[in-house]
Amino acid sequence: MTRRIAVLNQKGGVGKTTTTVNLAAALANEGHRTLVLDLDPQAHATLHLGLMPGRSGPSLYEVLTQGLPLKEVRRTVADNLDVCGSHIDLAAAEVELIGTVGREVILRDQLAAEDGEPYDFVIMDCPPSLGILTLNALCAAREVFIPLQAHFLALHGLSKLLETIHLVSKRVNRDLRVSGVVLCLYESGTRLGAEVVEDLERFFESRRQASSPWSDAQIFRTRIRRNIRLAECPSFGQSIFQYAPTSRGAADYASLAGEIQGRAPAGFWASSDQPSPA
Ligand code: ADP
Ligand code: MG
Repeated sequence: MTRRIAVLNQKGGVGKTTTTVNLAAALANEGHRTLVLDLDPQAHATLHLGLMPGRSGPSLYEVLTQGLPLKEVRRTVADNLDVCGSHIDLAAAEVELIGTVGREVILRDQLAAEDGEPYDFVIMDCPPSLGILTLNALCAAREVFIPLQAHFLALHGLSKLLETIHLVSKRVNRDLRVSGVVLCLYESGTRLGAEVVEDLERFFESRRQASSPWSDAQIFRTRIRRNIRLAECPSFGQSIFQYAPTSRGAADYASLAGEIQGRAPAGFWASSDQPSPA
């Protein structure tokens, strides 16, 4: 079964794209067939993976607005790593789809129309908003990862985000789960970093006491530390594993990839495709 993960936070600059690209690259390096769907009209993930938006053919814009199959859009960018790119046109999809019935499930249906389930992981990079593009990701995903930048307003807006995901899960996608929070741009050894972790633990504890949804979300053990190599590699169109394989950034994303493989959501593995013990 494919693990379909939406990387989502309505704030910009928290590490969504960096996490999408480098987590996908880490999983691909380990031999998992991985697909990145770039749902942000800014096309940062597309560029980060070495493609020029628009130059390499159609994008998710044509998938969402004209029914083009995903296989016509995806490109292979490394061993085991494919991407369906974005384009600035995708910004217009929000408006163009207003009158379309079922507009929030177009991506889900397109993924279902793929022959078999050729991927182990599908990772979706979301725009910093909660519009129709994000809604398509939430309807197509089974899991949400929330990157948080470890700074003093980190938790601001988190309740609203969790409520939105809860609404989608109640109304259109009962399989959806918030799997975890990824702390990005983490300053190890600082008081601020430790305080954000404590705040986050308290936040989920208070949700547990109030029986609020997603109080069981994990804070991933792996912290993605601030690392200049991670900020440099997008302009080379390379993942951290191509650009600086011995950097701390590469080590952190490899560690996150290892951690999430041990943490599929409850009930995820059907008996037929449970991985055999190594
Ligand atoms: P988002 O997709 O949420 O807007 P990005 O992943 O684009 O966020 O990250 C915002 C900026 O911070 C980018 O310039 C990116 O290169 C940089 N960045 C992200 N994570 C790190 C990190 N761990 N260390 C250093 N720079 C980072
Ligand atoms: Mg981004």
